[in-house]
Amino acid sequence: MSSHFSFQFPTKIEFGSGKIKYLGSILKEYGYHKVMIVTDPGLCQTPIIDQAQEYIQKAGLQSVIFHDVLPNPHSEDCEKGALIAQKEKVDAVVAIGGGSSMDTAKAISALTANPGSIHTLFYPNTVPQKGLPIICVPTTAGTGSEVTMFAVISVTEKQSKESILDTNIAPILAINDPDLLKSVPPSLAAATGMDALTHAIEAYTCKVSSPLTDALALHAISLISGSLRDLVYQKTTAACHDMMLGSLLAGIAFGYSDVAGVHCLAESLGGIYNTPHGVANSIFLPIVFQFNIPADVKKHSQVAKALGIDIAQKSDRESAQAAVIYLKTLANDIGIPTLRELGYHLTEQDCIKIAQKSVKNVSAPSNPRLLTEESLLLLIQEALKQ
Ligand code: NAD
Repeated sequence: MSSHFSFQFPTKIEFGSGKIKYLGSILKEYGYHKVMIVTDPGLCQTPIIDQAQEYIQKAGLQSVIFHDVLPNPHSEDCEKGALIAQKEKVDAVVAIGGGSSMDTAKAISALTANPGSIHTLFYPNTVPQKGLPIICVPTTAGTGSEVTMFAVISVTEKQSKESILDTNIAPILAINDPDLLKSVPPSLAAATGMDALTHAIEAYTCKVSSPLTDALALHAISLISGSLRDLVYQKTTAACHDMMLGSLLAGIAFGYSDVAGVHCLAESLGGIYNTPHGVANSIFLPIVFQFNIPADVKKHSQVAKALGIDIAQKSDRESAQAAVIYLKTLANDIGIPTLRELGYHLTEQDCIKIAQKSVKNVSAPSNPRLLTEESLLLLIQEALKQ
């Protein structure tokens, strides 16, 4: 087999326990004088934001704070944040939080250089001018948004999540400090961890993977499967380290490969019902994985191996099947609710609406097996039975 791929990576990564302490001095090295912290109200209740402001202040820089980010962030808030960034004349946006804060910071940056409605920036449109530099400090493990060139934004009136996709919104710097995971509550650790695992599995099994993203994805699967239960139930230092690293590697993998069917369904569900992104991914992961096995049995068996399943005595098909069971058991063990437990009573019409949105998702063509409205409808109906 001969490989053809290109890979260019615009983000500098600072990884390690305690890295957040250098936030101020790092921003100073970049020559900034005043930055806007983009975060959410929940993070403001933890010591993380006060400490970050202190590190910035100690380095002699000024900061303003925008803490209006909502989960599945909303387009109006991005536009509001951009106006504040312009009024305050900041030199950079510093996202501190999960995917919602990081994606909002990316949208704010794009809007500062391309003023007007955020709707003109959504895919398939691009971001013509590069905006304020973006620095991301993830506090969940997670979305990997600190190393991707996407922002996923909810559009309330359309009940959908739209993507901004352009190298002009790639963060210039990611500061991955595993210590920031210590305050993550168990249900959030579970949902965000399953999100990271989904990124790694879809990056590896989708149609546009490359040897480089495969290597990152397989290592991410192994790190995450080995540490997610410990992150949820014990919050050990080793689990925080491995989950932050796994999420980062998975982010690079899918950011430079793609996601696939699981994300198509999860984003459609989240756009309509505001379902936490990681929970939605986790619900669809084993079902879409099972559906995709015939497209590449060998690759799906390699996922089983990376998950830590002993495949020595198993055929490729048996190994892939064992991975489906593993994914269901893991989600159950860490307390991810099913659609039924979430109290969703989806009618046939609701399911059709989700299938119609999913088939139009930008990542649908990357799924290893052809996704049609009919096949997606069957996958949703399968999820409702769990
Ligand atoms: P989130 O950013 O929505 O945060 C969820 C909650 O977690 C918030 O209430 C926040 O206060 C809390 N929280 C975060 N860190 C914490 C910490 N250390 N301690 C205590 N509480 C903490 O959650 P998320 O799952 O990280 O992000 C989901 C969003 O990211 C979705 O909108 C999804 O579509 C998007 N996403 C983007 C990309 C990308 O590449 N751009 C990839 C995947 C997902």
